[in-house]
Amino acid sequence: SNTIGNRRDDRSREAFARAKQVLPGGVNSPVRAFKSVGLNPVYMDHGKGSRVYDIDGNSYIDYVGSWGPLIMGHAHPEVIEAIKKTAEKGTSFGAPTELETLMAELVVERVPSVDIVRMVNSGTEATMSALRLARGYTKRSKILKFEGSYHGHADSLLIKAGSGVATLGLPDSPGVPEGVASQTITVPYNDLESAIVAFEKFGEEIACIIVEPVAGNMGVVPPLPGFLQGLRDLTEQYGSLLIFDEVMTGFRVNYHCAQGLYGVTPDLTCFGKVIGGGLPVGAYGGKREIMEMIAPSGPIYQAGTLSGNPLAMAAGYTTLKLLTKETYEKLERSAVRLQLGFEKNAAKHGIATTINRVGSMVCPFFTETHVINFETAKTSNLEQFRAYFSAMLDLGVSIAPSQFEGMFVSGVHSDEDIDATIEAHDQAFGSL
Ligand code: PMP
Repeated sequence: SNTIGNRRDDRSREAFARAKQVLPGGVNSPVRAFKSVGLNPVYMDHGKGSRVYDIDGNSYIDYVGSWGPLIMGHAHPEVIEAIKKTAEKGTSFGAPTELETLMAELVVERVPSVDIVRMVNSGTEATMSALRLARGYTKRSKILKFEGSYHGHADSLLIKAGSGVATLGLPDSPGVPEGVASQTITVPYNDLESAIVAFEKFGEEIACIIVEPVAGNMGVVPPLPGFLQGLRDLTEQYGSLLIFDEVMTGFRVNYHCAQGLYGVTPDLTCFGKVIGGGLPVGAYGGKREIMEMIAPSGPIYQAGTLSGNPLAMAAGYTTLKLLTKETYEKLERSAVRLQLGFEKNAAKHGIATTINRVGSMVCPFFTETHVINFETAKTSNLEQFRAYFSAMLDLGVSIAPSQFEGMFVSGVHSDEDIDATIEAHDQAFGSL
């Protein structure tokens, strides 16, 4: 079994050195480079169930889950079977297939606010397209988002963003035109008063509010009671649209998504991650009257060569089918077990932590402050996080290499996996 500092990583070091010659920063998505934790990234070889295996032969209990999609674990046999069977019939046609309708019917059935849905290839595409739709539909150009929320990397949304942007401390990205940036209003998450003030000033110009109904890109931050409903009321009052970015929370926190959990109905919803079952998928959907503005039924353009791709639809559909109401009960139980174990360890070692959790999204912060927004998330001791991350990796537990990301418990983490994770956490805290 692993001990701290005992992890072999020669091959991962070699792989990263080579990758840096041909990929910017050695990676295709920034946080993967482990830059903020000052380590060499771990190159994966394969995954099975709750575990991943790197190219140096180390194994890890995995809570990254490909950053959210793998809610039923790595290489789930039914998902792999569906992908194989579909692939044998051809990988893409650029013509409609019946799988796309099956998939859409399933989303519409599970998410009451969604009458009709358009499939895309990533969460970024989903939010970018939903914004264009909101702007086209309302004939307004300003949008309101929350500090520390991440909605993908479209220009309008890269303002005071979370996730990798927060992790790397890049407040606003060069390359976003000033004219575009000026159309984005940001206020603190969970701060309804500030949103109301912004609407008093600009309400008639605001096309939409886009919000993560559970923030998952500044660590995990649940919505305070009344926050989401307040946004619903505010947008209704001003004729703006409410967009729930459920790229992370969709089919993750509840059978009916976060909107089902909190009982608030958005106009539009964005999906990604779980909906693709580990293949590149996003989607946006909502009220028929609004969605029918999209081409070809309406004038607002959005398209995709590979949108509704058969392999992606097969993986996503099969994953959603595996997610029964009982799955969410099991996810909740496993995540609570993990949280209680972590809290016990923190008390034992006298280390200040606050654990935020919604369903299977779990986030331990190194602070005693109640974390309700990006400001309070930043009170976490990042030095301590780095040491903790490194120790956990050495002990065979894979978590995201950033304080501003949550852990994803999956439906295939066993009680033994959870207990082994709590044991590693105990040892890691003992080493801090
Ligand atoms: N919205 C949210 C809430 C997300 O968490 C993410 C990705 N972490 C995105 C949008 C962007 O999705 P993608 O990385 O698939 O473009």
